[in-house]
Amino acid sequence: MTGPGTTMGTPLAKVLGPKTATAMAESLELHTVRDLLRHYPRRYAQRGEMAKFTDLQVGDRVTVLAQVRSVSTRSMQRRRGTITEVTVGDGEGTMRLVFFSNRHPRMAAGVWGLFAGTVSLWQGKMQFSHPDCHLLDDPDDDDGWARALVPIYPSSKDVSSWVIEKALRVLLGQGLAELVDDPLPESVRSRHGLLPLAEALTRVHRPETAEDVDAATGRLKWDEALVLQLTLLARRRASALEPGIARPRVPGGLLDAVDAQLPFALTDGQREVGEELAAELSREQPMNRLLQGEVGSGKTVVALRAMAQVVDAGGQAALLAPTEVLAAQHVRSLQAVLGPLGRAGELDGDAAGTRVTLVTGSQRSAARRAARAEVADGSAGIVVGTHALIQEGVEFADLGLVVVDEQHRFGVEQRDALRAKGTRPPHVLVMTATPIPRTVAMTVYGDLETSTLRQLPAGRGGVTSSVVPVGEKPAWLDRAWQRVREEVAAGRQAYVVCPRIGEDPEAPARGQAGEDAPVDADGAPDDGSGKRPPLAVLDVVEGLRSGPLAGVRLQTLHGRLTPEEKELRMRAFGAGEIDVLVATTVVEVGVDVPNATVMVVMDADRFGVSQLHQLRGRVARGAHAGLCLLVTEAPSGSSTGRRLAAVASTTDGFQLARLDLETRREGNVLGAAQSGTRSEVKLLSLLDDEELIAEARAEAAVLLDTGGGLADHPGLAVEVARMTTDDKADFLEKA
Ligand code: ADP
Ligand code: MG
Repeated sequence: MTGPGTTMGTPLAKVLGPKTATAMAESLELHTVRDLLRHYPRRYAQRGEMAKFTDLQVGDRVTVLAQVRSVSTRSMQRRRGTITEVTVGDGEGTMRLVFFSNRHPRMAAGVWGLFAGTVSLWQGKMQFSHPDCHLLDDPDDDDGWARALVPIYPSSKDVSSWVIEKALRVLLGQGLAELVDDPLPESVRSRHGLLPLAEALTRVHRPETAEDVDAATGRLKWDEALVLQLTLLARRRASALEPGIARPRVPGGLLDAVDAQLPFALTDGQREVGEELAAELSREQPMNRLLQGEVGSGKTVVALRAMAQVVDAGGQAALLAPTEVLAAQHVRSLQAVLGPLGRAGELDGDAAGTRVTLVTGSQRSAARRAARAEVADGSAGIVVGTHALIQEGVEFADLGLVVVDEQHRFGVEQRDALRAKGTRPPHVLVMTATPIPRTVAMTVYGDLETSTLRQLPAGRGGVTSSVVPVGEKPAWLDRAWQRVREEVAAGRQAYVVCPRIGEDPEAPARGQAGEDAPVDADGAPDDGSGKRPPLAVLDVVEGLRSGPLAGVRLQTLHGRLTPEEKELRMRAFGAGEIDVLVATTVVEVGVDVPNATVMVVMDADRFGVSQLHQLRGRVARGAHAGLCLLVTEAPSGSSTGRRLAAVASTTDGFQLARLDLETRREGNVLGAAQSGTRSEVKLLSLLDDEELIAEARAEAAVLLDTGGGLADHPGLAVEVARMTTDDKADFLEKA
């Protein structure tokens, strides 16, 4: 077991049994002593908490601490074998466990245990089928369970929470003082009243009281917040040090021509942000700016004007879009605005203009070669593309500006990869429609300055949303289809959005890399939990064609179509040759057909809050009033029903952003800030820790500016390096 030589870097295989160590490495990415110590409990089970589980949903995987109340075994009626029903309770609630054919540990009434399983519903009552069981007065076990708080760890099928607890007991048993080097400077610790690391780790894994947990997590969150802020500030400083190329305004060029032929007047906001960008592009120090603006606020034209300025100054601009549909649409709308100015070198092109070139992963080799050649020799001033832009082989003559559209689909590393294609660091403009709460701005986007477009262009019809609870009001769905017919009869168009493509029940609605968004975690496909699979485009379109929308021109759009087919169908929809587009979330971002006025989202509960907000942005783009109907089977009183009602009740993006943070796992938000698969940010909450994050940001700035900066704090430097290059290969080297 652990000896005096054990350090944080010691592989778990040297400390635990080989089977356990392998399982931990494979299923939980825990490789070293440090990983295990930093694998914090997700929560602490205590008696009497089952009542709090009333909000549990079918399909949730949970662990409960409960006492066996009764056990009964009987023969099954239609099959051979027996069925055992165990009722467990914790003083407040009860729940049923079901085991077939005696595959369960022996249990007697009165015994306490931890039961982990997936919630299913049977005869209106929650139950676990075949949960993992860990009976707490097992003689092999020590008195751990008698404590008030039993840690419940993020676990896997192969490594249960109690195996993790046992392994930690081995480490903690020897005391951590020798083993743990505290990376936090004493000065920071005392200023903020933080526990030493060894003590915090001990208390987080074996707390006596709720106060222990608070003190420990308070300290451990500081580790995460400080290292995150150091990483971001260091990145920002490094990029500020390396000069780029100034791209000042050149009168009489593409930008002036664009302004002269814009079909509308810029809003005040567009003009102000435009000035801000123009000034920053004129400097040698590379711009690093985030442009936030509601769906439909007109970010594209702001980006186009910045791109035109760079082209006028002799550089190239790249526009990175998350999907092929959106990239193709950008090319179309840029070409529409530019006219002959966007076809320099072609017969009808204007020699004073430039070329708009599309680069996508699905281009055939001849088209790809031609596109790459235009990018490389500089004749393409504006290059629009998907992830394919980032790939090797795409070389720019002189990349001056990188624009990333709908940033929430891209990570920092993709932004950096594209930035690396400039001979000197290019200017960077990141655009997002998902409003960003202050904490997120300080973390995920902590290396960017921010501009905001608050105003929508005048004359927008706006969008009204309603929830259609089909369980309670089946007639409302008929009414919804009738509304679609009415709009179509009035010459308008509609979208029907489904979570899945269909045909292959195993395949989620996901196209090639970077295409449709996967539905949220709560939209996972049928996993045997009794939840039916989400509605599918290919089924719904058939039902509509032969039912409520018979005679209406219907077409589908989803990630399994070839890019040519997608492009054709989007064009046809844009041209009004299709009345109703039945689609997956391929239409989520940026698709711009102002004549579309209704959107019906099927199984709306399977989508996340910001996805729904994005989706409905598709029908608020013209002068006509838009209508968005969120169809769901979720009861209106359930937490899901309430979430949908909240989405329907407001279009205030900031309020929705908060709701979104509350309903999705925050690790995902912060996880996007890093390149690694394992997140180094585990405890920090973007909702609750605003103050702490702001303090850590201030401390990080002080640390970097004092003495030798990070070099004076080797422990922190190691953590920063870990966060920056958190990938497996690098990791194995260290282990
Ligand atoms: P988003 O910010 O969601 O990307 P877009 O840039 O796609 O929005 O713009 C939405 C629509 O508004 C487009 O059809 C665009 O042509 C139009 N638009 C942009 N700016 C203005 C303006 N100042 N006045 C009127 N329409 C505008
Ligand atoms: Mg857009």
